[in-house]
Amino acid sequence: MPELPEVETVRRGLAPAMEGERFDKVEVRRGDLRWPLPRGFAQKLHGKLVEGLGRRAKYLLADLSSGDVLLMHLGMSGSFRVGKNSTPGTYYHERSKSTAHDHIVFHMSNGKTVTFNDPRRFGSLHYVEGDPLTHKLLARLAPEPLEADFNTDYLWRITRKRRVPIKQLLMDGHRVVGVGNIYANEALFRARVKPTRRASGITQAEAAALVRAVRATLRMAIRVGGTTLRDYVGADGAPGYFRQRLHVYEREGRACRRCGALIRQLTQGHRSTYYCPQCQKS
Ligand SMILES: [Zn+2]
Repeated sequence: MPELPEVETVRRGLAPAMEGERFDKVEVRRGDLRWPLPRGFAQKLHGKLVEGLGRRAKYLLADLSSGDVLLMHLGMSGSFRVGKNSTPGTYYHERSKSTAHDHIVFHMSNGKTVTFNDPRRFGSLHYVEGDPLTHKLLARLAPEPLEADFNTDYLWRITRKRRVPIKQLLMDGHRVVGVGNIYANEALFRARVKPTRRASGITQAEAAALVRAVRATLRMAIRVGGTTLRDYVGADGAPGYFRQRLHVYEREGRACRRCGALIRQLTQGHRSTYYCPQCQKS
């Protein structure tokens, strides 16, 4: 499933094709995605200018000249592909090399096509009239990990009196959005905090280290284009290279890159946890 860095990578890949351009034509080949496309979806977009392409959590938001917003979510297996002059484009979803799962095609005024491909159809597109941040999918989202409201004071405050392991708290989308399993594991390693520690036992210094580690981990992943897992390629089809830089994730039994101890694995909340018993003693 695409995580925050992958979605941000997709945003950066799509922005040059969409920003400052109009929708010349919108082809809906299949409208029954996770939720059915709204009635008149193509007509509503037709002729509208994309003023900017933003992101909130794992949603992409195309701000339209009308003040409305096109909201897009990749779901489990969705991807976008940029092509030119109505040709299908060069790059394809890794597991979907056919165009059979091309459900929506945006033909932009610069001659580029932006194609939404989604074999499992858990992705969704929404046409939102008015302020998107009041939309039911966005209204109650927790702070963004890369924005100022996710800071030491905030993490300190939300960990008080919480008995859950710190890793599960970091992955709780009601506390902070977009810190998926890979990034939680890597951030805890970077901050030298054992993933099983009770959240309430985290010190203020550790909270500060964790905030820095979460931000650094996500920034690094964005910089190298997301983590390539089976289901994901960037909007331009380029693979992510973050995987080569992982310290603990899926490295059980291998030597810690920092100290040489063997990385261990355990299960927390049905998700795999990886840590270095030497670097993350407590
Ligand atoms: Zn180590």
